[in-house]
Amino acid sequence: MSARRAILLALAVLALSAPPADARVLVIGVDGTRWDKLQTVIGEGRAPHLAGLMRRGFGQATLLDYAPPQAFTVSAVGWSTIASGVNPGKHGVVGALNMDAAQADKNGHPDFLTRIEQLAPSLRTFSATDWGNLGLHVNGGPIFSDAVDVKHATAAADTIESYDAGDQADTDAAVALLRAGGQQAGFVYLGVVDEVAHVLGSATDAYTDAIARSDRRIGELLAATAGEEWTVIVTTDHGQRDLSIGLPISHGGATGLERTSFVIAAGAGVARDPRIVRARVVDVHPTVLARVGLPGAADLDGLPFATSTRQDAAGFLGRQAASRAAALRRARRAR
Ligand SMILES: [Zn+2]
Repeated sequence: MSARRAILLALAVLALSAPPADARVLVIGVDGTRWDKLQTVIGEGRAPHLAGLMRRGFGQATLLDYAPPQAFTVSAVGWSTIASGVNPGKHGVVGALNMDAAQADKNGHPDFLTRIEQLAPSLRTFSATDWGNLGLHVNGGPIFSDAVDVKHATAAADTIESYDAGDQADTDAAVALLRAGGQQAGFVYLGVVDEVAHVLGSATDAYTDAIARSDRRIGELLAATAGEEWTVIVTTDHGQRDLSIGLPISHGGATGLERTSFVIAAGAGVARDPRIVRARVVDVHPTVLARVGLPGAADLDGLPFATSTRQDAAGFLGRQAASRAAALRRARRAR
């Protein structure tokens, strides 16, 4: 290749991969949250921050693409899917017990923060999680790898009090980072809603109260993003059976309630017109990458929904096609 051609190619690659300097994406995971109960809490005016996000962007229920016996509707499966942008058939985390060894590697499908660190290590990433599997080397985790720049990772005990304390600590850690400024992508996890379902059931006032407490914490996170333009995505890993007693297996099965997740999003790049968006949980990972100007792996199951700036989508798909072509060329050369 001539020097001139090499320079042109290098410039093209730079243009394709250079992340927008102001691109910032926050993903908030609220474990085991029923969409129907969230609507109730919003109707009562007790989830003003989630309601505000839905007003400014969109909020939709979405049915998980899987069910047992293929894959159980539990947290290890759900968060592995959301983090990696591929369904259980690809990442291999399928079991009912939240113990699958595949959570850490996910068959080579990294979490979205790790993918950012692999492609653009200078971008600043953080996570704040209090379910052990997400951030710690326990029970087959961590689902979010140690490549993340700043990890606040703990494991709450199986009590409502412990998850309330852990969720507040996640929130406080993330608020401190967001207030300091300069972060570009983060994942914050809140677990108390699911814990209440396991201890008391989701058909209870305690469950809707926990949704309201989580909304307050989300409000603290949103307040800390003021001054920078953030794209905010809120999602859940699974729903719950409609029970008024606590059960370890309050979810995991194939009913519609258990398989119902949701995606709420607002901020830079998110369409306000819900008619042009159908967001699934596997779309979260490619959306995060698209916002920071990076390509998704060629075999992702989702697509970016942050496409109101059409450039985002076109740029992402162009970059994805380019990386797919490059992988093909490498494979041919290797043969
Ligand atoms: Zn659970």
